[in-house]
Formats: sequence, structure tokens, C-alpha cells
Amino acid sequence: MKAVQYRAVGAEPEVVDVPEPEPGPGQILLKVSAAGVCHSDVAVMSWPAEQLYFPLPRTLGHEGAGTVAALGAGVSGLEIGESVAVYGPWGCGLCLNCAQGKENYCLEAQKLGIFPPGLGAPGAIAEYMVVDDKRHLLPLGDLDPVTTVPLTDAGLTPYHAIKSALPRLLPGSTAVVIGAGGLGHVAIQLLRALTPARVVALDVNGEKLKLAAEVGAHETLLSDSRAAQEVKAMTGGRGANAVFDFVGAAPTVATATACAGMESDVVIVGIGGGAATVGFGATPYDCAVRAPYWGSRAELIEVFELARNGAVDVHVELFGIDETPEAYRRLHAGKINGRAVILPNG
Ligand code: NAD
Ligand code: ZN
Ligand code: ZN
Repeated sequence: MKAVQYRAVGAEPEVVDVPEPEPGPGQILLKVSAAGVCHSDVAVMSWPAEQLYFPLPRTLGHEGAGTVAALGAGVSGLEIGESVAVYGPWGCGLCLNCAQGKENYCLEAQKLGIFPPGLGAPGAIAEYMVVDDKRHLLPLGDLDPVTTVPLTDAGLTPYHAIKSALPRLLPGSTAVVIGAGGLGHVAIQLLRALTPARVVALDVNGEKLKLAAEVGAHETLLSDSRAAQEVKAMTGGRGANAVFDFVGAAPTVATATACAGMESDVVIVGIGGGAATVGFGATPYDCAVRAPYWGSRAELIEVFELARNGAVDVHVELFGIDETPEAYRRLHAGKINGRAVILPNG
């Protein structure tokens, strides 16, 4: 079968032919219907060998959806042909956090060498993929796998980030979204669906700002060194109640903390290497700065409920599996509006 692999440090991903996998006991084989392309892969593929925590080659793709193609020994409760999405941040299933569905914060995964598909385990950008346990599958029902698959990361990650900031986002509040790309354009819709906050979107790219306005941002701003002052001005000098940084680079983290108000949440989701200076006098009174990772199984169920209610509409650009390297190139160049989705089986 065809799979897209990251094969050598610093090299472009390659479309290769690999043996079709077989599901072991407890595992499920999926025929992949759609796989999303995330900027985290671009970041991982830019890391030096010392930083890379899994061996190469590895099949990419940590947003996956498919139909059940075969069941490993002992698996029941799934129909062959059933349409499912994959919960990606796999954990041990047994620790306290996993027991709460927070496998993204599994206490044992690192020790046990458990990796998410596409970020260490064989991923979704392939004709078939193996899922390690049925608890990592969510039935899609009538949801379209192509527009829903990005919700497993580009929806779940902002949802998790926003959910813990909800107490800040009361009527009259302002939420800032920095980076209106794959995650950011979903974050804007989630903020509109879940809160009465005024949503201000920042990006460096006019096309992204246009999309931000289309999906519900009340205001859009060019992300530059003046942006924080503009947010301050928009809020009568008070600053934003919550800032979500989907870039996480030094200049955006600086903007994020500079435009935050008292008792605000600054949530750094992007992995651009920036770090905030936090302390008395450096940040407004009681401003909390967090850097969360992905989301829980329960939260993914909640995100799918929102999708069923029509509250989120992911903008997708579609590619065949052979075009995956081009999709990554375009994402790297900032030329994907919304999310790139690969259709490995045409
Ligand atoms: P993307 O490329 O689709 O979107 C990034 C957006 O940021 C683009 O619209 C781009 O124009 C914009 N941007 C770039 N520089 C900017 C700047 N200086 N100011 C404002 N906007 C700027 O990427 P994505 O797939 O949405 O991922 C976003 C970030 O989130 C990446 O760093 C990714 O690695 C990270 N991520 C983190 C988690 C997590 O669990 N913490 C999960 C998924 C993705
Ligand atoms: Zn991702
Ligand atoms: Zn665990």
C-alpha cells in the first residue's frame, strides 16, 4: 500500500510502498478515508536528530478517519465498514489521567514508549492504518469524514484550550486568536459557539484574516508589533480576557502577554519556540499563562456534538496521497487556507 513517510532528518516526506499492516490482538485496521495535515509535522520535520524522539522512517498523519476494514483477535462491538475517527493522543488507558479520558496527559505514555499515530506510531497518511485499541475510535455516523477529520486535532486542541478559559469569557469580554490557520480558524468558530466574547483575530496573511472574518471573527488585525496596542485600544485600555496563540513564536508570545488584561488567560498552543516572561509586574495581576497539549477523549466527543449541531465548519483543501509532499510544502509556505486533507484512497 502507499504511505507517506518522514524517512530522514531534514528530508521532505516521501510517498512509498509499504506492506499492508495487519491488526494484532485488540487492534483495528482502518481503510483511511481522510487524513489531516498539521503544522506540528512541519515543526517535527525541522528538528535536529537529537530532538527527534522517535526512530525513522515513520508514516505521518495524526488526524485520521476511516472505515473499519478488519478486527484483531478479541475486538468486538465494531462493524466492518463502519465510519470512525481516530482519537490521536494515545495513552496507557490505565493511569489516573487516562481513567478520566485525558490520555493527552497520560502519566505512563513516555515511560511505556506509547506514541500518537503519525508522531511515532504509524500514522494516517496511508491507505490503511492500525489503531491500537477501540477506545481510540469515535463513530462518525453521518458526519463527513473529510471535513470532520481535522476536528480530531485542529478542533480538539483549541477546544481544550478554550474550555479551561471559559470562566473568563463572560458577556462584554474579548478573546484574541493569534494565527488563523488550521487550528485558529476552528478556534474562532468554537469561541463564537461557546462564548459571548468579542473575537479579535490576528494573522500576518490577508487571506487568513479574510477567512477569520468569514468564520466569525468580529475584528481582524495584522499581527505586527503594534497589534497589542490596538487590542488594548479596542478594550478601553483593559486588555483581552483570554488570548490564544496558535503560533507560539517569540513575537506572538510577546504580543499575547502584552495584550492580556488582569485576571486573563494566555494560552500558548503553537510550538514556535517562544517563551513568556511571567511574574509580578511582568504580567498583569493574576494573568495565567498555560501551554496545553491536544485534548481528552470526552472533549473530542463534545467537539463532534458541536459539529453535528452545525457550529463548526472546517475549511478544507483536498489532496490525493501522491500530492502530500506538495500539501506539506504549501502548509510550510503559509499557502493552505483552513486545513489540508489527504484522501489516501482517492
Ligand atoms: P497553520 O500553518 O495552519 O496556521 C498557522 C497560522 O499562523 C497561519 O495562518 C499563519 O499565517 C499564521 N501566522 C504565522 N506567523 C504569524 C504571526 N507572527 N502572527 C500571527 N499569525 C501568524 O498551523 P496549524 O496546523 O493551525 O498549527 C498551529 C500551531 O499549533 C503550530 O505551531 C502547531 O505545531 C501547533 N499545534 C499545537 C498543538 C498542541 O497540542 N499544543 C496541537 C496542534 C498544533
Ligand atoms: Zn497536530
Ligand atoms: Zn495513561
